[in-house]
Amino acid sequence: MQLSTVNSVRLNETFGPTVQGEGPYIGKPCFFIRTQGCPVQCPGCDTAYTWDGTEKGDMHDLGKLYGWAIESLRQFAGCGFVITGGEPLTLFRNVAWKTFLIHLKEQARWISLETSGFIGPNETDRAKDLIEYLQLFDSVSCSPKITPCLHSPHYTDKQLDVNLPWILRAFDSADADIPRHPSDLCFKYVVRDNDDVIAVVDHVRKHSLRARRHPLYLMPYGLEAEEVAEGCRRCVEWCARYGFDLSPRVHALLWGKKRAV
Ligand code: SF4
Repeated sequence: MQLSTVNSVRLNETFGPTVQGEGPYIGKPCFFIRTQGCPVQCPGCDTAYTWDGTEKGDMHDLGKLYGWAIESLRQFAGCGFVITGGEPLTLFRNVAWKTFLIHLKEQARWISLETSGFIGPNETDRAKDLIEYLQLFDSVSCSPKITPCLHSPHYTDKQLDVNLPWILRAFDSADADIPRHPSDLCFKYVVRDNDDVIAVVDHVRKHSLRARRHPLYLMPYGLEAEEVAEGCRRCVEWCARYGFDLSPRVHALLWGKKRAV
């Protein structure tokens, strides 16, 4: 892949091989690419180092990043790539980044996106770009930060939902260039208590997500293994009562707060 050195993006870290620890691709071997920065800034964020100023990230030349990905796949051909953050949706207009993803998708078993679904209220005029960006991924895991345990002081629920219609449109067969299956887009909600779960149930109802047949997950809040294990135990009843699937945090269960594993 030919990309000039001006084509670079700010990343927080790249690592692997490991396994995806959350959502529908749980257990799949993969490498992670973590972008720097997030506009949402939730108080309970588990990757606050990507946006709170403690780390700046590094500019990564996309040609070199592609070289790293190809070398990684040469050694570990069974892996996919998780694009996460921070908020990697903010790169949706970066042409070089999208070219990188197109080439990566040709080589890897799969690429998936982890997103809060938020890029800001001023971006809705670029909905076509957002839809095209989302169609680059085999799987999109959207985790709206509307539960009280993560609620950003900077935005209301309504503001955080501003981009959701465009995310849904990317998976409507009438609008997609490539027909998509509903399971290509899942919703994963972080919950700590009953108030969080009630907020999730309202959100699912408001956007008719159940009728659209997207997989719906509850995931426990927490970073430490025992906190997550206890959260998983609490989630079982909520999942059974309200019809969600449980997404553990495999990395927290296995390694706690350890980074890049
Ligand atoms: S949206 Fe995600 S990355 Fe951004 S602050 Fe909230 S939890 Fe952290």
